[in-house]
Amino acid sequence: MPATDMEQVVALCKNRGFIYQSAEIYGGFRSTYDYGPLGVLMLRNVKDAWWRTMVQLRDDVVGLDAAILGPPAVWQASGHLETFNDPLVDCRNCRERWRADHLEPDPKDGLVHCPNCGSTDLTEARAFNLMFKTHAGPVEDESTVAYLRPETAQGMFINFKNVLQTTRKKPPFGIAQVGKSFRNEITPGNFVFRTREFEQMELEFFVPPDQSEKWFGYWVEERFRWYTELGIPAEMLRIRPHEREELSHYSAGTSDVEFMFPWGWGELEGIAQRTDFDLTAHARASGETLDYFDQATGERYVPYVVEPAAGATRSMMAFMIAALDTDEVGGERRTVMRLHPRLAPYKVAVLPLSKKDTLTPVAREVLALLQPHMMCDYDETQSIGRRYRRQDEIGTPWCVTVDFDSLEDHAVTVRERDTTAQVRVPIDGLVDHIKALLPQ
Ligand code: ATP
Repeated sequence: MPATDMEQVVALCKNRGFIYQSAEIYGGFRSTYDYGPLGVLMLRNVKDAWWRTMVQLRDDVVGLDAAILGPPAVWQASGHLETFNDPLVDCRNCRERWRADHLEPDPKDGLVHCPNCGSTDLTEARAFNLMFKTHAGPVEDESTVAYLRPETAQGMFINFKNVLQTTRKKPPFGIAQVGKSFRNEITPGNFVFRTREFEQMELEFFVPPDQSEKWFGYWVEERFRWYTELGIPAEMLRIRPHEREELSHYSAGTSDVEFMFPWGWGELEGIAQRTDFDLTAHARASGETLDYFDQATGERYVPYVVEPAAGATRSMMAFMIAALDTDEVGGERRTVMRLHPRLAPYKVAVLPLSKKDTLTPVAREVLALLQPHMMCDYDETQSIGRRYRRQDEIGTPWCVTVDFDSLEDHAVTVRERDTTAQVRVPIDGLVDHIKALLPQ
């Protein structure tokens, strides 16, 4: 198992251009991050890999890209206005829940006690009013209040009827969305694990109510497999079913896919049985009928929802942590990020052996051959050894070296990241050679 500490990950992210502190030149904006030249590529790859598995390779899921700004009515109906509202603490002893701002420390010992059982074993205050509030338009009054979405899910529920009518899908079917969500987290931290602005990858899978349990099991398994297929060792992952007390207001059962972060187990994704909670709530509040009429059976029902909800930014960090490794090559220590090629920012780096004028045109020609097919880096600075190390560290699976023999034999050397094995490949077969190595 790769040994990784967080400082190493944070330093690599900054030094290699994956993730920067946001507004750094102004002293930084707390818990907000910008994705640099390599980070933007990798994050996109994570989202594309999710989309490929969840939408492209299936015929029972369609996509959606809904608005981030929404009117209060949506969040009123979804329960977010009510249940995201106050800083709450839970008593770990009797499980009672209290408004943190209603509790006073006991003058005798200075500690806050649970008003029910007297225990001092209370959780940290958690603000349930996690939503960012703003105003749409120039007037700042109650009529112009809008919210930034705290999850992408509601976009799928409020478009359920539209999608049903325009795609002619029938349950079981799903709507998938990838996009930004915002939560005014009280305790953000652990780098990009918990931020106030983040990206989610969510599927709302609508099923006949009596199939909800079956599909829940199916999606828990499927989602676990997605992470392992993209390179996270199974022993760094676990499925954790939620205790009854920690279930969200909409959930009849949730299991998390958790990852062994350097500080301990942390959630990557929650798979929840949202039942008919959301469709029923929006139907009631909007006056629209949000159900499904099954012509075959003559039955009308409100579908139940199974929701695998993952974090793109959080899982990108997990993929990096799982891939980061050190080994020894030719008696020298090297840092290597063994990213799955689908996730690696660059698939190939084109490296002319020297900066000599004679090599540059050939190297440029090789680059131009590869660029239409995949994301490539081009680097002619420093020694070849140092350039290999740099590519190893950022996870580039293959380096293509153009040397003086290339001028004669019209071939290049392809070096593989993990084994450092090298093969000679004719330039006119290079694209096919690399494409054959890329996972389909
Ligand atoms: P947590 O318990 O960690 O706050 P959650 O259970 O509230 O997460 P969900 O509402 O299930 O999270 O959201 C689905 C996924 O979105 C999470 O598994 C996580 O990957 C991601 N996510 C949620 N909140 C954040 C955040 N503040 N920063 C980064 N990613 C987040």
